Amino acid sequence: VFAHLVQAPEDPILGVTVAYNKDPSPIKLNLGVGAYRTEEGKPLVLNVVRKAEQQLINDKSRIKEYLPIVGLVEFNKLSAKLILGADSPAIRENRVTTVECLSGTGSLRVGGEFLAKHYHQKTIYITQPTWGNHPKIFTLAGLTVKTYRYYDPSTQGLNFQGLLEDLGAAPPGSIVLLHACAHNPTGVDPTIQQWEQIRKLMRSKGLMPFFDSAYQGFASGSLDTDAKPIRMFVADGGECLIAQSYAKNMGLYGERVGALSIVCKSAEVAVKVESQLKLVIRPMYSSPPIHGASIVAVILRDRNLFNEWTLELKAMADRIISMRKQLFEALRARGTPGDWSHIIKQIGMFTFTGLNPAQVSFMTKEYHIYMTSDGRISMAGLSSKTVPHLADSIHAAVTK
Ligand code: PMP
Repeated sequence: VFAHLVQAPEDPILGVTVAYNKDPSPIKLNLGVGAYRTEEGKPLVLNVVRKAEQQLINDKSRIKEYLPIVGLVEFNKLSAKLILGADSPAIRENRVTTVECLSGTGSLRVGGEFLAKHYHQKTIYITQPTWGNHPKIFTLAGLTVKTYRYYDPSTQGLNFQGLLEDLGAAPPGSIVLLHACAHNPTGVDPTIQQWEQIRKLMRSKGLMPFFDSAYQGFASGSLDTDAKPIRMFVADGGECLIAQSYAKNMGLYGERVGALSIVCKSAEVAVKVESQLKLVIRPMYSSPPIHGASIVAVILRDRNLFNEWTLELKAMADRIISMRKQLFEALRARGTPGDWSHIIKQIGMFTFTGLNPAQVSFMTKEYHIYMTSDGRISMAGLSSKTVPHLADSIHAAVTK
């Protein structure tokens, strides 16, 4: 009965790894997926995560019962504090409802379905370009997806005027997806002054902010600094949604641990919102997994482990910044035509190189370097040893 099916294409991002795995070349390099690698090119389990897991194993009172629909309650409280700040008035006033979800993706999907069911506007505006999964998540959640201008290829920076015009022209009440920091795929973030202008415009038009926070701590190396744009929106007393992921900043990728918070106008509304979120979650996957959220809770509740985490996080962010500098210098040393300063200006895990699909495919074919066809490279997948190879391939691609 399924013989009529056509072969579906690989996911544009995960498919890069599939192609990489098939390549027998010893010099192959995977810069497709945004997963952190050490200088030796190995995946990293944070020390602090190992310690937390040991604590969990040693605690013989731990059981494997189902979590409630909303997940691990302590994890939810700590996650809200991490993103909104320990002194957040919204938390103090019990206006925030938080549910544990399946990493960032699951949080976006649950938030999207909640909005499709209960919010009066069904259109969500996403940045042009954005993470490839965003349009699919929100379309399947039942929302209509439109884009707003964000990136200007001519300056390799923010198209701030275009952004303001597009959000200014959006129908009142529309939902707007905002990358909290380290925009994927461009690595271009608004300045704090620009965020303030975006906030004013959005609040004046009653646009609903939906923050995607997949890289807290990865942009600046500081958890508080990276959460600042969100806290500005919460400080004005208005509503917003926040999807948090611990995939990158705690290296918990496959544990699928994240949280959706909805900041409401009052405690009374927050209670009702939570009851409706449960109705979205229960038929979707019943309740979330216990292990990853328990690791996060152990780390966030303990001052020493928390401090240790911030140091390990900063080390990851610093290594990525150092890769940016090394790649920039390597291109300069080769006299590669073009202005490559965006490599050091952009923020977070990715560099949006400006390489076109033909150049990308040349680099894959001739140099066994794998990346998404939009020219995005994961700086976290680079090391001092592989920078020269990448620089050679970029040089060859732009001079051929
Ligand atoms: N949003 C953005 C912008 C991302 O880059 C990612 C990860 N690539 C996610 C959300 C969600 O990832 P995860 O589901 O693994 O937490």
